Amino acid sequence: MSSSAPWDYIAKLVCIGDSGCGKSSLTIRLCEGRFSAHHDVTIGVEFGSRIVPPRRDTSGIPQKHMKLSLWDTAGQETYKSVTRSYFRGASGALLVFDLSRKATFQHVTDWLNDLRQIAEPDIVIVLVGNKADLTQQEDNKREVTREEAEEWARRNGILEYVETSAKSGENVEKAFMRVAERIYQNIQAGKY
Ligand code: GDP
Ligand code: MG
Repeated sequence: MSSSAPWDYIAKLVCIGDSGCGKSSLTIRLCEGRFSAHHDVTIGVEFGSRIVPPRRDTSGIPQKHMKLSLWDTAGQETYKSVTRSYFRGASGALLVFDLSRKATFQHVTDWLNDLRQIAEPDIVIVLVGNKADLTQQEDNKREVTREEAEEWARRNGILEYVETSAKSGENVEKAFMRVAERIYQNIQAGKY
């Protein structure tokens, strides 16, 4: 790390889940603050980054800054051949499914198994039910209940379950920051 870098730590965070559930949209929303209705199938791995003050510190101790390096899965999701190199070194993961498509929730177990086989044991994982805006319309498109997602998260040692909308921006910041804050705590505790 260069002494002139504007951050104190750097953490790799991967976005995984079925194609079309909104991983690229969540990354773009977080890094660029915008949403596109167009679905570009991601080719290769795309990156985004954000420098975050990981928590609100009222102790008066100077805040450390952490750079989140976001790895948006691409192609691997289609071929289901997630490479070891993609997960290697990840401190955190957003495990994303689409609230309006049950099958994408049924596949989170496979994604988690892949991740746990390869990633570090201390990896911080947040389960994300995306496209919450589609559940807030008159014709509610919800196919996965909050209760079943929360229950799955609890059973599988997931830090938290968050419902997001990359479209409206709802809870996007929260989902990423939950991961960032816990990674930060782990760094402080000397886990990495
Ligand atoms: P990825 O394959 O997981 O990267 O998914 P994309 O980010 O490319 O999104 C797939 C499609 O879902 C695109 O047409 C997006 O515009 C749309 N989409 C993504 N997030 C949301 C959301 O929160 N709400 C709605 N309504 N559509 C979304
Ligand atoms: Mg994508």
